[in-house]
Amino acid sequence: MRTLEKEQVIQPLTVKVSRRSLLKALGYREKMELTPNVDEIIREVLEEGGDFLHPRGIFSLFPVEKVNDSEIILPGGVKLQTPRIARTLFQAELLAVFLITIGPELEREADRLSEAGHLAQALILDTYGSESAEAAVGDLNLRIDRLAQEEKRRTSFRFSPGYCDWDIQDQKKIFSLIPGEKIGVNLSSSLMMIPKKSVSSIIGIGPRGSQKNARHYPPPCPDCPQRFQCLNRRQ
Ligand code: SF4
Repeated sequence: MRTLEKEQVIQPLTVKVSRRSLLKALGYREKMELTPNVDEIIREVLEEGGDFLHPRGIFSLFPVEKVNDSEIILPGGVKLQTPRIARTLFQAELLAVFLITIGPELEREADRLSEAGHLAQALILDTYGSESAEAAVGDLNLRIDRLAQEEKRRTSFRFSPGYCDWDIQDQKKIFSLIPGEKIGVNLSSSLMMIPKKSVSSIIGIGPRGSQKNARHYPPPCPDCPQRFQCLNRRQ
């Protein structure tokens, strides 16, 4: 599978947030009764929240020079230091590095609602924004999976700096590889992405090996000491 000559911008990404996923993200369990007021706000946010979304993404494919027990080494000596993820990506030939954002508009509207004292609306809209960013990163993930499958390659699950044992400091390396400003995303000195509803990730791409029908490499979760508390666990 070839690398890309240039990073690709995808705009718009497909984002769909269901009532069920929004309720779950807000902490409601199935069959819990909502007050009429909350029910009304949720209905409004699901109907109109999309007006504040401008989901876009950017990705590039880099050849993996080497993977050892603790790091993934890319051209130019860029080393992503994460033993747990490196062990999962030991067969990777390429690394897809990507960023997505839903843009700043939803965040501004949630801040405006909060300042005006509409705290429930602000919270529900903000949660809808987080679910939208999750849906946008899922869409770009799927596009990268399809690209790899067309070339008879397999992908890993996606991983982001700050998760598993990957130090958030490596966010700087992600931004050195991908021009976030092309989709309006910048990294602050405290390593926060601006706009906040943005996600950076990597996916390993490599041969299918003996499991020809498997679409994904197994995740590192079964051996992970944090697996019992981790909300991102894959298996
Ligand atoms: S259980 Fe959680 S921390 Fe551990 S490898 Fe899986 S996603 Fe990462």
